Amino acid sequence: MRITVAGLGVSGISAARALAGLGAVVTVVDGGDSGTHRERAAALAEEGISVRLGDAQTLPEGTGLVVTSPGWKPDSPLFAAAAEAGVDVVGDVEIAWRLRGENAAPWLAITGTNGKTTTTQMLASILRAAGLRTAAVGNIGTPIVDVVLGEETYDVLAVELSSYQLHWAPSLRAHSAAVLNLAPDHLDWHGSMEAYAADKGRIYEGNTVACVYNAADPATEDLVREADVEEGCRAIGFTLAAPAPSQLGVVDGILVDRAFVADRQKNAQELAEVADVNPPAPHNIANALAAAALARAFGVEPKAVRDGLRAFRPDAHRIAHVADVDGVAYVDDSKATNTHAAEASLAAYEPIVWIAGGLAKGASFDELVQRSAKRLRGVVLIGAERHLIAEALARHAPEVPVVDVDRTDTGAMSEAVREAAGLAKPGDTVLLAPACASMDMFTNYNKRGEAFAEAVRELAAERA
Ligand code: ADP
Repeated sequence: MRITVAGLGVSGISAARALAGLGAVVTVVDGGDSGTHRERAAALAEEGISVRLGDAQTLPEGTGLVVTSPGWKPDSPLFAAAAEAGVDVVGDVEIAWRLRGENAAPWLAITGTNGKTTTTQMLASILRAAGLRTAAVGNIGTPIVDVVLGEETYDVLAVELSSYQLHWAPSLRAHSAAVLNLAPDHLDWHGSMEAYAADKGRIYEGNTVACVYNAADPATEDLVREADVEEGCRAIGFTLAAPAPSQLGVVDGILVDRAFVADRQKNAQELAEVADVNPPAPHNIANALAAAALARAFGVEPKAVRDGLRAFRPDAHRIAHVADVDGVAYVDDSKATNTHAAEASLAAYEPIVWIAGGLAKGASFDELVQRSAKRLRGVVLIGAERHLIAEALARHAPEVPVVDVDRTDTGAMSEAVREAAGLAKPGDTVLLAPACASMDMFTNYNKRGEAFAEAVRELAAERA
């Protein structure tokens, strides 16, 4: 079969190699034509994979299937050309699903606007604690096509899926799946909130055992209701309050399960303590409950849920405690790249000196500022679009002191940390939760978080 792969990035290259290895005749197309593109093209050419650079619009002659990469928008001209020719367009997840072969382990799938990576890793930790062979895959780490074609075999996979991947994975059928939350994000790609929600909702289609939703986010429950699932598949909610039947929730500091209770004498099963969740911030307890729900749907015992949660360590720059300096805690949540994520971490502390700003991606900050204002001791603003946050603060929290760091060079973060230290009192938390993307000042959110941690260490060294 002749397959056209759209995009010469990491996922495109991995898909091209896998498909060529299976005997397909592969052409990778990409609109770019830089030195990097040519180097990559030359490497693939040696493996018998042809690459067409500088034209991302027309469909190569004889194409029977198009495999796309996440950056390509659904309205790209290449896909219109494919539709015209009656050729399917699919993503890497669809390819992995169709190729599973020996590795046809059930998938426990996770999506949502925020918390995907954390929840997927928590789930993998729980599954490992239960003695199952598993891996956290999908939108994390090794490309999923490489995982399903690899040597290793698995009992079950914890799969993180982005809305882009779901958009292009029409035949995927998970064992069970969770949508953690839904807030506006990536609307430029999907075109509208409805289209974004519909793509997220795809994750429930054809589930066999459980559709896990967030009881505090009715939009996620609506998606379950609209999904076409296998007979006997159950809707399972998670909540930070006491759970109703068919829910997991929290009672007196204990995570409890009222959905999968084996002992008929009991109406709830204790799983773990809130203190077992790392960090025990409200949004993260919600992530833990979602992971627990998927694990329980797969038959995992309560003890493994507790052991798995205890063993879990969050990835860097996600609410990471960097240091205490003069009685003030410094916390790095550089991964809070949108307002929904920043709101979750602002809800976890009080009083806060908040460091925010960067690229707003078209977001509005009014709601975030309104909801968080009473927790704020002060705010330090950095980055290209910091004025948008300053304006929201002036509208809704004029009493909160704001320091504007009017520079974007490498010293900007260090100045921001010093300004924050000046505003903070012992017992406060200085929280980097930018609510914005980082690319105006840094290569990515990792670099932004590292700059923050470095500045905090300098401060600690001076004050020691
Ligand atoms: P994703 O993979 O969806 O980007 P991560 O697990 O990497 O999610 O977390 C990204 C950021 O989102 C975290 O730094 C935190 O600020 C925030 N976050 C994590 N879980 C949640 C949640 N359940 N609700 C809201 N915000 C969250």
